[in-house]
Amino acid sequence: MFDRLVGFIREQYATKEFIPLHAPVFRGRERELVLDTIDSTFVSSVGAYVDRFERDVAGFTGSPRAVAVMNGTAALHIALVLAGVERGDLVVTQSLTFVATCNAIAYCGAEPLFVDVDRRTLGLSPAALDAWLEEHALVDDAGVCRTRVDHRRIRACLPMHTFGHPADLDALIAVCERWKLVLIEDAAESLGSYYKGRHTGTFGEIGVLSFNGNKIMTTGGGGMVLADEVVGKRAKHLTTTAKIPHPYEFFHDEVGYNYRLPNLNAALGCAQLEQLPAFLASKRALAERYIAFFASTDLQPIVEPEHCRSNYWLNGVICESPAQREALLKATNEAGVMTRPIWALMTRLPLYANALRGPLDNAEWLEARVVNLPSSVTPEPA
Ligand SMILES: *Cc1c(COP(=O)(O)O)cnc(C)c1O
Repeated sequence: MFDRLVGFIREQYATKEFIPLHAPVFRGRERELVLDTIDSTFVSSVGAYVDRFERDVAGFTGSPRAVAVMNGTAALHIALVLAGVERGDLVVTQSLTFVATCNAIAYCGAEPLFVDVDRRTLGLSPAALDAWLEEHALVDDAGVCRTRVDHRRIRACLPMHTFGHPADLDALIAVCERWKLVLIEDAAESLGSYYKGRHTGTFGEIGVLSFNGNKIMTTGGGGMVLADEVVGKRAKHLTTTAKIPHPYEFFHDEVGYNYRLPNLNAALGCAQLEQLPAFLASKRALAERYIAFFASTDLQPIVEPEHCRSNYWLNGVICESPAQREALLKATNEAGVMTRPIWALMTRLPLYANALRGPLDNAEWLEARVVNLPSSVTPEPA
């Protein structure tokens, strides 16, 4: 079967060479727009492409405001700062995620609180969150969610839309409202993914995108904060050294961050965004071919959840057993077709090993079985 899978993947990319998990594709005006920034000398913190990229991403996602920053991790950090996360706070998230989600929490001096994911969405489970809070938390007279034992503040909830598949947002919103948690979406992987017709990253108070080289589109390195006008304005201020606008005076009214996205990267982003609809179509078609292929096997492809349209950024399968996972990883990688296991759970990393947590059965089950498959945009038919 693995030979057949390797042959199938080679067919998709029409090559006998090494096939990476995810490589960027530059088929549009990337060269033209990037060269334009060089010709103009505006490659850095000033230039028109940043404004345009922010407007274009806001338009694409339907977010009132989009603020460009230097990477997705910085966007997550700023989102948590804007949500009022402070030293000593807890922030609920999933253990099945990329490490940046938790690192951003640590940058605030806060700590992650891990609850389980759903097997269908691979995203934070609203039922698991509600159950943990029911047993271990209360909302105090001031309307602040706190742990029962030591009264630590639980400030925010940070679900992640794994591989571009939306988490169960309606239910998460309801649980967050009930427990007074600020909802922030780690939508780093889900540009082009929709939940009930609305773009991911626009449901929470703040949403975060990434344009790292391995994401569905890239700026080289980059990220975006999605928010309403008021929070978005603050995000812009905080990520640009908190300078009060003035023709020549330097005055900064708080400790700001230099997190802005250079114009050079924004130009690449503008050109990539023009191609995003084509990328999404290519990925959906590839996902459909993967799903058809796996129908005759005992591996289960990961498909978009109900009421959702996923970007199918990264295709994945659920193996029947941990042993099958090992065999699949070995056979494909030895054949020059790159596949990867899902991340080790955050609770296994020494830095988060002592974090508070609920039961993580689904996360552990998935960790032992999920393998990601090559998912780059496929070559155009000759
Ligand atoms: C890629 C990614 C990030 C971070 O993005 P960078 O731009 O690489 O800093 C954060 N969270 C998740 C889930 C990601 O996949």
